[in-house]
Amino acid sequence: MIRITPIETGKARMKTAQKTGRDGRGAFGRKVDIFRDRNWVDPLPIFCFLIEHPEGRFLVDTGDTWRNSVPGYLPRWNPFFTREVVIKVAPLEEIGPRLAAMGLDPARDIEVVILTHFHHDHTGGLDHFPHNRIIAPRENYEVSRGLMGMMMGCLPQRWPVWLKPELVDMDGPPVGPFPASHPITRDGSIFLVPTPGHAKGHVSVVVRDAGITYFLAGDATYTEANLANGKADGVTYDPTISEATLRAIRQFATSEPTIILPAHDPDGPARLAAGRTFTGS
Ligand SMILES: [Zn+2]
Repeated sequence: MIRITPIETGKARMKTAQKTGRDGRGAFGRKVDIFRDRNWVDPLPIFCFLIEHPEGRFLVDTGDTWRNSVPGYLPRWNPFFTREVVIKVAPLEEIGPRLAAMGLDPARDIEVVILTHFHHDHTGGLDHFPHNRIIAPRENYEVSRGLMGMMMGCLPQRWPVWLKPELVDMDGPPVGPFPASHPITRDGSIFLVPTPGHAKGHVSVVVRDAGITYFLAGDATYTEANLANGKADGVTYDPTISEATLRAIRQFATSEPTIILPAHDPDGPARLAAGRTFTGS
């Protein structure tokens, strides 16, 4: 028996053009659309997911940090950070205090932290895990460091100085429509699949329990609706790649009973509680 618990670690606001890109627009045009857009979506949750598994507790992503709102934390030279996204996290909403409130010591009671990608609203809580194994996709790590990373929505200058993630490649067998995978547990019930598009090297976490599969999508899609409709987001580096990823997830999730759990979909927890699997529409 595997238990999945969504943990909300604050809110993120973004433009409508970031959540859902315009059909036919290329990667650059979608960025222009975001800057021009005057419409904000309602604040979206920033979810981490705790997986309780016979082999241990696994945490997917770490949310953002309250320090995001301290002047000087975000680099001023990249207006995307300061103008196009608003992160609101109270100190007690960070993943560390959230886990503590559940009776868990984040630094000691989590076997493995898994990052789907290195955007700041997924890495801001890393400070709580100095003694833990941290697994991350190598391909995404490579594009998230340095100036390049800072231009792509990452804050490598804010990562803990001790951060040395265990970088993994998609070196495991294909799984359905996914050309490769990477095993996390020895029993094979938790594994990563490549879901590029939102970011290069982005991965999703698949959890297979008896009769039900959970697809922890990170930001491969912001919502189940965008997945069903095949709508790539506004920050994609290549809409064609994003759309292929969405097709693969749809194909996978309709071939076995699957609950879709993106990192920012407000409806995810209700689907999880009700056991509502993806139908494709
Ligand atoms: Zn992201």
